[in-house]
Parts: sequence; structure tokens; C-alpha cells
Amino acid sequence: MNGGHSHTVRVRGLKKAFGANQVLRGVDLEVRQGEVVVIMGPSGSGKTTLIRSLNFLETPDDGHVEICGIGVACAGGTGDRATRQAIQHIRRRTAMVFQSFNLFPHMTALQNVIEGLLAKGVARDAAIQTGMRLLDRVGLSEKAAQYPGKLSGGQKQRVAIARALAMAPEVIFFDEPTSALDPELRDDVLHVMRELAAEGMTMLVVTHETRFARDAADRIVFMEGGHILANCPPEEFFGDQASERCRQFLGRLG
Ligand code: ADP
Repeated sequence: MNGGHSHTVRVRGLKKAFGANQVLRGVDLEVRQGEVVVIMGPSGSGKTTLIRSLNFLETPDDGHVEICGIGVACAGGTGDRATRQAIQHIRRRTAMVFQSFNLFPHMTALQNVIEGLLAKGVARDAAIQTGMRLLDRVGLSEKAAQYPGKLSGGQKQRVAIARALAMAPEVIFFDEPTSALDPELRDDVLHVMRELAAEGMTMLVVTHETRFARDAADRIVFMEGGHILANCPPEEFFGDQASERCRQFLGRLG
């Protein structure tokens, strides 16, 4: 439970600039528990910055972020003790899956999955049991002893998803999880993500995968120029009544 909040993510007026480049211009976004929200939009529109801001890999300049009932006001910076603590609590209850996998190359698949559990003080046997169960869940139990260098990109990303799941997050943020993969390797990763979605995981996914967006998302958020231009169910986003701008964007994705 998240303190009686039905919203796992609640963002208000989020702003972020890199120097003179105003990347987020006041973003409002809510994600309910169990909801799958896909963020789409042209390159440079602020999608990655938004998702990274939710777990404070980027420090927003202004606005309010509330995740799992834990609130952070961003205007004053994130340096004070209470804010740092709130961010730590948010990080413990969320997980991030990156485009570039970010596995430790000197650790096997299993070691990568259980590393966070061991760091949390979970006993080795229990961690291994959990790790093997999660590798099985992403279809990779036979790869437990392999190092990332011996795995395909799709397999690496599935290990990264197993590692995220090991921390039992309440929400998973995916930042273009299939963009670095050859097309034929994407389906296995998307299949795992669809299963998570069907099981009720709360997910916020930046992706250009229109098929996944169309049939796995509850809602599509369309960003451009640091603003959310559309926030609607996929039937509407991909349908005839979508705005001219959304249709133009989708037309270019092909
Ligand atoms: P998207 O994910 O929609 O492609 P991003 O959030 O990655 O967009 O980037 C939005 C803008 O912010 C781009 O102009 C990008 O160059 C800039 N940007 C992103 N990260 C940084 C950074 N760490 N330093 C400076 N500029 C950045």
C-alpha cells in the first residue's frame, strides 16, 4: 500500500533546465496504482529528463513530485537532510530500467540480479533463490552463470528487468528499454514487459514501440517541447480523433 494514495506518481509543475535549455516547462502527470503509462514524443521533447527526474537522477528546478505517497518540493533544491531522506525512500520503492542496461560487466547475470538484495542485507541463500526465480520469470534461468559480455542485448535487458524486480518496486520507470536492441531482439523484452503489465505492475515507459503502446498501455502521454500535449487512452491517441500534431508524429514513426 502507499499510504492510502491511489496515485503512485503525482507530479505538479515540474520544471528543469540545462543551462539556457528549458527542457521541462511545467509538467503535470499522475499515474495510478497498477496503471501502465507510455510516454511518447519526438526526440529532445524531455521524455528522458522527466522520467529521470522522478527518481532524482536529474534534479528538477521547480515543482512537486510525490511517489508512493512520499513528497518532494523541488524549488529549494534537494540538498537538505529531509529531502535527501525522502529521495532515498522514493528510490527504495521504485526501479529504473535504462536503454543501455547498466549491468555490472564483472558480475554474472545472477550476481547482477541479487546485488541489490545482498546490499540490503538479505541472506545469500534467500537472495539466490529470489534471483533464480526472477531469472526464470524473464526466461533466462539457464543464463544465470553467464557474464553480460556473453549475453545478447535482449538478454541483458531482461536481466536488468529481473534486477529491477528483485527490489520489489511499487513502480518501474523504463527509459527506452528496447531502443538499443536489434528489432528481432525486442520482442522478448516487450513480452516480459507485457506480462508485468498484465500482472498489475505500475509502469511508466518511455518508448517508440507503437504496438506495445497501443495494446499494453492504459494511457499515452505525448510530450513536445517540455510540455504534455496529450494525455489519453491509446484508442484515442491512435484513433481518428487524435490531434493533428499526434497524427503527424505517429505518421513519421511509420
Ligand atoms: P527525449 O528523451 O524526449 O529525447 P531528453 O529529455 O533526453 O529528451 O532531452 C531533452 C533536452 O535536454 C535535449 O535538448 C537534450 O540535449 C537536453 N539534455 C538532456 N540531458 C542533458 C544533460 N545532462 N545536460 C545537458 N542537456 C541535456
